Amino acid sequence: MKAIIVKPPAAGVQISNVNEKDLSNYGYLKIRTLYSGVCGTDREVVNGKLILSELPKGKDFLVLGHEAIGKVEESYEGFSEGDMVMPVNRRGCGVCKNCLVGRSDFCETGNFREAGIVGMDGFMREQWYDDPRYLVRIPKSLEDIGILAQPLADVEKSVEEIFEVQKRVPIWSCDDGTLNCRKVLIVGTGPIGVLFSLLFRTLGIKVWISNKREPNETEQILLEEARINYYNSVNDYEELSRKVGKFDVIIEATGADAGLITKILPLLERNGVVGLFGFPVSGSATIDFKSIQQIVHANKVFLGLVNGQKPHFQLAVSHLASWKTLYPKTSKNLITDTVSIDEEKEVLKILKEKRRGEIKMRISWD
Ligand SMILES: [Zn+2]
Ligand SMILES: [Zn+2]
Repeated sequence: MKAIIVKPPAAGVQISNVNEKDLSNYGYLKIRTLYSGVCGTDREVVNGKLILSELPKGKDFLVLGHEAIGKVEESYEGFSEGDMVMPVNRRGCGVCKNCLVGRSDFCETGNFREAGIVGMDGFMREQWYDDPRYLVRIPKSLEDIGILAQPLADVEKSVEEIFEVQKRVPIWSCDDGTLNCRKVLIVGTGPIGVLFSLLFRTLGIKVWISNKREPNETEQILLEEARINYYNSVNDYEELSRKVGKFDVIIEATGADAGLITKILPLLERNGVVGLFGFPVSGSATIDFKSIQQIVHANKVFLGLVNGQKPHFQLAVSHLASWKTLYPKTSKNLITDTVSIDEEKEVLKILKEKRRGEIKMRISWD
């Protein structure tokens, strides 16, 4: 069968005809792939930049892909033939208690596997067999944007975790019982930045999103429709802090230079949280003693944010469905393009580099 394969830690990617029995499967439910999503992590694996990427044990290649929607081929354990499903991409270590209750996002051994990234064949192949426990139903009405449920699941988990941390503050809600007075700054306008901003707006929080340039046309539509503020950070963040003040939550969603953190830290409000989502691949950050004193003195938190699990996939599906009503124009822009697996040259190109103005690219397998 056709599969997109990589050989980490080496850079490179190819579309190959692979023998079905050389691929790992995870259960008895047969699923035919409809769409794969392409994200920054795939490109880091393809370009040999993701040091944690690993081959499955005893294999000399890895099937790429952790964002997938497929169609159930034969009815089995609660799923019917024709149902659309999305696989949960991280699988537990099988030993620690968090993994045993389906929360491998908090794995205690670190021996979990991640489809298409760490030690587990991914879903960029014509079909795979899976365990129903790791499948989330995608309604037919979400065939267009449903592929975003995987990255959005990570964002859902992140926001849930931030709220959990803010429960430490006796009163974090506003005078009217909502969170409408709270302010969030999202650094980075990539797909993750966009998903964070839509989710925080859905929850009634004020959102600023920033990048080192003026917003493009698609972003203008998002800003207007979801009432999101934009800041061009090409020079620095001083003007933003002068005009808007400080932020209750700052999300680092760029995956750019690690040094960015020292620039955004002064913008954090007392009792605030810096959520680190991006995976920097260069640079370093030096935090001086005065900044550390401020962190201590004002209850500030640095929080690493990673990996949504099945409950978050389910939340993501319901939010995607609601955004079609709340933000109809933006919803239509979320999928930038769909490339057929038969267009091999173009598929390999979008796996290596980001397209201009891209939010989410899909590969179709049908
Ligand atoms: Zn991804
Ligand atoms: Zn574990």
